[in-house]
Amino acid sequence: MTTLKNKVALVTGSTSGIGFGIARSLAQAGTDLMIHGFGDAAEVDAQCRDLAALSGGRVAYSAADVTNPAAVREMVAQCTDELGAVDILVNNAGIQYTCPIDTFPDDRWDAILATNLSANFHAIKAVLPQMRARDWGRIVNIASAHALVASVTKSAYVAAKHGVIGLTKVVALETARSGITCNAICPGMILTPLVQKQIDDWAERDHISNDEARSRMIAEKIPTGQFQTAAQIGALVVFLCSEEADQIRGAAMPVDGGWTVW
Ligand code: NAD
Repeated sequence: MTTLKNKVALVTGSTSGIGFGIARSLAQAGTDLMIHGFGDAAEVDAQCRDLAALSGGRVAYSAADVTNPAAVREMVAQCTDELGAVDILVNNAGIQYTCPIDTFPDDRWDAILATNLSANFHAIKAVLPQMRARDWGRIVNIASAHALVASVTKSAYVAAKHGVIGLTKVVALETARSGITCNAICPGMILTPLVQKQIDDWAERDHISNDEARSRMIAEKIPTGQFQTAAQIGALVVFLCSEEADQIRGAAMPVDGGWTVW
């Protein structure tokens, strides 16, 4: 099993869903961790205790709003102060909004681009000097199957996630002659609050049960007929952080039950 003991990992959007799963996998590999995102104070406290018990290491927390570039820089500074320089950055925070482009609200476009794409840029820019100084780093951007293919009603999300792949490739090229790698993971469908909201909306729109909406959503996109899990994404993140993954650069790796095979 990969050991990442004494490494410092910062996982954005890790108070929920995929991010928390990634944080658990990294904790199991032994990293010190900064978790990040919005959440109820008591729940976040319980998550920090869970992670510390898994890793035996230190856990810090930031609630920085990643739509604010200054707050992203402060998050990295806080991590550095409390845990040390960032060795592993996982850009995972993300939001979704669905609506045909004709009526897509301008403010939702701006929020999705800021959260799902620009925040990654600002976080990478803030950690790179630290990584370059030590000639080692791992940057993993959580993109989406929607970074590779499109769906109706998701103009902002698909545009932002395609942008994440472009950003990943440029960072990989600009760090190619170093011990820093930058890759993207493209999950298909994982049952988190972000996806549950879409299932709820679908059930309401089509006057069907929640179970029926969930089945239809999977049947429409996923050849295996199964959700993926946050633990599966976490395991891939840990592998990408290993020395064995040193020559994986600028990749966009689907974990999507075959969605993007079409
Ligand atoms: P989630 O809603 O469960 O969690 C989102 C996290 O991001 C939370 O911790 C939330 O507090 C944080 N966040 C959102 N906006 C923020 C902001 N402005 N500032 C700080 N934190 C903020 O979502 P999830 O399903 O776990 O998604 C995580 C990532 O995975 C996202 O980038 C999403 O696009 C991507 N993804 C999810 C799926 C899926 O099926 N769930 C599929 C493909 C890609």
